[in-house]
Amino acid sequence: MDVFDRSFLDRMKAGLDIDLAGAVAVGDTGSPELKRRVSPLMPTARSVVVFAKEIYQEVVGLLRPSSEAGQAHGGDLLPMHTEYLNGRLNRGVHELAAYFRQLGYRSLPLPAIAPTDQRFLEGLLSYKHVAELTGMGRIGWHSMLITGQFGPRVRLACVVTEAPVEPSPSSPGGSCTGCGACIESCPAKALEVPGNGMAYSMNKFSCRTYRQAGLTCSVCMKVCDEALTAGQRA
Ligand code: SF4
Ligand code: SF4
Repeated sequence: MDVFDRSFLDRMKAGLDIDLAGAVAVGDTGSPELKRRVSPLMPTARSVVVFAKEIYQEVVGLLRPSSEAGQAHGGDLLPMHTEYLNGRLNRGVHELAAYFRQLGYRSLPLPAIAPTDQRFLEGLLSYKHVAELTGMGRIGWHSMLITGQFGPRVRLACVVTEAPVEPSPSSPGGSCTGCGACIESCPAKALEVPGNGMAYSMNKFSCRTYRQAGLTCSVCMKVCDEALTAGQRA
């Protein structure tokens, strides 16, 4: 049986116009939580592959917590930009799944926008947690993945597959400094300092309510990106 090694994933990443790629094994040696979440989707799964696309800093830099009535707002470019990135990711996970399927491995592409139970805001599979397991980054106080290369500015999608893909090594960088900028800037007061052992403390319903009022937010992403970038310069 083939094992798809790191160079395979790098080739796929380049060929599919993907910015970051990682893989994690699903099995007895891996994360029990991952196995619990993946088994209902595919009991025979051996690996989950995560793809990421960079959200441009030029777009994120235009985000504001609020805008004046009647003023066009540059931050409103984010949804259109995200739609484009989601399209690239969706193509990527479908192409990879198709490749594995041709070789006889059952494979399930999971799109950039995962089906979500809107009552509890629980997604089918938490891509950021899978990405953390692949070593792509760490989850920060704003609940998003922080990568070494792009900070929190990434969109994610996954492939669950029977194909044995070599697990990725941890990559350097990409962690929350605990600066608190995301908490201070959140207009919905949806974020708090997490308790011991918790990666984040977020009232996702407050966040959703704020954004459902028709406001493009993600200000937590913007201030985090700025804080991390300033830290690299310091
Ligand atoms: S996206 Fe949500 S959590 Fe982030 S700053 Fe806006 S309201 Fe707060
Ligand atoms: S803004 Fe600061 S505290 Fe918030 S996630 Fe980023 S590094 Fe962590």
